[in-house]
Amino acid sequence: MLLTETCRFRLEPSEEQRRVLEELFEAYAGMVRECLEKAIELNATSRKKLHEAVYRELRARFPNYPSHYIYTAITMALAIFKSYRRMSRKKRDVSKPSAKNLNTVLLDDTHLFWFRWGEVRLATHRGHVAIPFKVHEHARKFVDFQVKGSRLVRRGDAFFLHVTFRKTVEEREAEGVLGIDVNERSIDLAIVKPGYVKFVRVDVSEVKYIRDRYFRKRRSIQKKTSGKTRAGLLAKYSERERRRVDALLHRASKIVADIVARERVRPVMEDLRGIRERIDYGRVLNRRLHSMPFRRIQFYIAYKSVERGYRPVYVDPENSSRACPICGAVNKPNGHAYKCGKCGLQADRHQVAAWNLATRHPMWGALPLPPKATEASWAEVERVVIKCRLRDNGLSPSSCRDSPRSSRLSPP
Ligand SMILES: [Zn+2]
Repeated sequence: MLLTETCRFRLEPSEEQRRVLEELFEAYAGMVRECLEKAIELNATSRKKLHEAVYRELRARFPNYPSHYIYTAITMALAIFKSYRRMSRKKRDVSKPSAKNLNTVLLDDTHLFWFRWGEVRLATHRGHVAIPFKVHEHARKFVDFQVKGSRLVRRGDAFFLHVTFRKTVEEREAEGVLGIDVNERSIDLAIVKPGYVKFVRVDVSEVKYIRDRYFRKRRSIQKKTSGKTRAGLLAKYSERERRRVDALLHRASKIVADIVARERVRPVMEDLRGIRERIDYGRVLNRRLHSMPFRRIQFYIAYKSVERGYRPVYVDPENSSRACPICGAVNKPNGHAYKCGKCGLQADRHQVAAWNLATRHPMWGALPLPPKATEASWAEVERVVIKCRLRDNGLSPSSCRDSPRSSRLSPP
């Protein structure tokens, strides 16, 4: 299995290096602009075609720049152009793409940069330039990763290096499955192994509490302020909310992943595609339900499980909170309670959902469990409550700043 994650480093260029970077960004934006214009003109989506159309001219116009910048400029222009074509197929009036405010320079992984911990060496029009940066605590975990690709990003006066790291993780054999039901208040887990079922509830109601509080805060900002002040305050609070929620989600998903590793189980989660269409209970309730970032939680759990050697699977959630895990009858849950009209099972609906998800994994289709034994196990629910212990003013242990929110989980 491959783990891929992107990490951000703030560069600390000298005055001289800063000038080189500024020139590089300007020249690069020019290259992308020209590639993009040509792509639009020729309606070109193939690298070969675009390359033939622009390479010679760009080479002549930017003779001092390493030629690989032209290659990556073509890559970037094609990506912009293709996404524009996709968008305009779905919607009318999509404005023509431009590279006007381009603040990114795409580097390839072999010719344009050499990564060292604490210093990046760049190939530029002024020769090789070694720019230092600080290595933050969170990044240390990537020490045994491979450096895959990278990009330079400019934000205001600051320059960043975004590095994509990759590592191969050996997959471990699972002894059972772990059904994971993410709901508005908790992440409910059903550990299903031959011979037993055990439940764990990770209480994440704090997320909802934070979201509600910031929702009210934003509303009052919208009422009381306007213009730039409003935009500034909204941005500040959104960022703070995001970090807070993120820190909690990381903590919760780490607990889940540690259970995965300890119990040696394969995580089974619901396939969320289409959840927005399925959940439609009117505006107010919709906001409430969507206030739980289901996908992000799943993503973190998946990532951390893969780190520990267990690849998650996704199953169709249809009826997962309605079917009885003992007899298969379909019942409607009443609030948080679940009662089966056919066999009499009484349980918590989220635990039922977690159990159903677990047993939907094809390998464990139906584990033979006598109803008596399962009833007994309902009583043993381990509870873990995730509380926000972060102080009001300056949250952010620096560790959550560069967390894998920007990363991808790649299938092998
Ligand atoms: Zn039943």
